[in-house]
Amino acid sequence: MNGHHTVVVVGGGQAGLSASHCLSARGIDHVVLERETAGHEWADRRWDSFCLVTPNWQCRLPGFPYPGDDPDGFMVRDEIVAYLRTYRDAFDFPLIEGIEATRLRRTTRGFQVSTSEGELTADHVVLATGPYQVPLIPRMAERLPSDVVQVHSADYRNPEQLPPGEVLVVGTGQSGCQIAEDLHLAGRRVHLAVGSAPRVARRYRGRDVVAWLDDMGYYRRGIDEFADADAVRFRANHYVTGRDGGRDIDLRAFARDGMRLYGRLTGINGGRLTFAQDLSHNLDAADAVSEGIKDSIDTWITAHAIDAPHEDRYVPVWQPDTEPSELDLHTSGITSVVWSTGFGRDHRWIEVPVFDGRGYPTHERGVTSCPGLYFIGLPWQHTWGSGRFCGVAEDAEYLAAHIASTSRRTDGLHWIAGTPDSTYPADEYWTAPRTVA
Ligand SMILES: Cc1cc2nc3c(=O)[nH]c(=O)nc-3n(C[C@H](O)[C@H](O)[C@H](O)COP(=O)(O)OP(=O)(O)OC[C@H]3O[C@@H](n4cnc5c(N)ncnc54)[C@H](O)[C@@H]3O)c2cc1C
Repeated sequence: MNGHHTVVVVGGGQAGLSASHCLSARGIDHVVLERETAGHEWADRRWDSFCLVTPNWQCRLPGFPYPGDDPDGFMVRDEIVAYLRTYRDAFDFPLIEGIEATRLRRTTRGFQVSTSEGELTADHVVLATGPYQVPLIPRMAERLPSDVVQVHSADYRNPEQLPPGEVLVVGTGQSGCQIAEDLHLAGRRVHLAVGSAPRVARRYRGRDVVAWLDDMGYYRRGIDEFADADAVRFRANHYVTGRDGGRDIDLRAFARDGMRLYGRLTGINGGRLTFAQDLSHNLDAADAVSEGIKDSIDTWITAHAIDAPHEDRYVPVWQPDTEPSELDLHTSGITSVVWSTGFGRDHRWIEVPVFDGRGYPTHERGVTSCPGLYFIGLPWQHTWGSGRFCGVAEDAEYLAAHIASTSRRTDGLHWIAGTPDSTYPADEYWTAPRTVA
């Protein structure tokens, strides 16, 4: 596979297909490269009982709003995959599956994209390679006894996959909380190391909290409206679930019903685990965020004189007696650990210096400091929905318009915007440090 395209889009998930849809609408020549198959992330890296946390009505890919009959429900994994693959099949996307982009370099005329099947050149490249790429596991995992089975949340499928015995789940972001619940509902004794992620109620005063926040304009707020963009961009997501029609995740209720809660896992020494003394604090802080969101909904209801039913506030159903600081793996009967410790990004193949000291791409609404190079699908790229189903269409539209205007300016001159100059040395010089970003 060789040749030149105006745009090469790398990644055929919802972000890449959305970008493609908006480029096609403007008649811009492009190709989408996907190393697996469209929807692969949802199909192959989510557990069996997985379902959306966001209501179905928020699935609004460009030209393809949620087509089902349960807009207030939460699609399960296979329905999400079907939604995406129906999208793929309904439009004539120039998608090539099974091809990986392995190297991206700047050239004097644009970009060179090396792939598993040959070389491409492009005037523009849109990187839609996903927000959650590389499973992160802390190095202390190496100190676990060898007879303890370890999986990352990306590889967890169901309780039967784990050996009989008790399970330690580390991390209480969305994945950790939902996996802990999955195991708990299956009758497994779960030990949960609770981190600092906030929580949100599923419903309040007669509606899904997402519906209130949507009315309140929360999902349309741009990242530039926040005083500390980084704090917003990198904070953990609120935990809640769409399972069985949607409900709260209340870790205190799990504890009341037999789950063992601890603070953050801080160390492993032989078979002994140590925890920070922050369980009470983390539970209180998560509840405070949830109640604060309810406060803002109350304010909205009052300000707009909305006739919404009263709802009593949350009352904690359990409090820790002590802050457990240690746990012996073997005496507790723990035979497996599920690391729900998040994901990183691997940008080593992108040899263009657009990353900051943390390896995060420097960009404004996905337009990087290197002319012609764009990202799409980053969490809070522009709004809350950028890294989700609900906001990616707006970002795709923005980037397609940007590319169209840049291409128009360069018509006849082929490539002028972003011509390498003294600040942008050409070709082989364009190699970024090989670090995992
Ligand atoms: C546990 C979990 C729960 C989530 N729940 C929700 C939810 O309820 N609602 C919601 O709206 N969002 C949710 N999200 C967030 C988001 O919608 C998903 O992460 C979604 O998969 C992001 O889509 P994407 O297209 O940006 O990236 P991805 O789906 O990750 O797609 C990127 C694609 O790029 C391909 N790729 C990567 N590198 C290359 C390369 N070098 N060459 C070629 N192809 C490449 C990959 O194979 C992949 O198919 C959740 C995410 C996680 C992890």
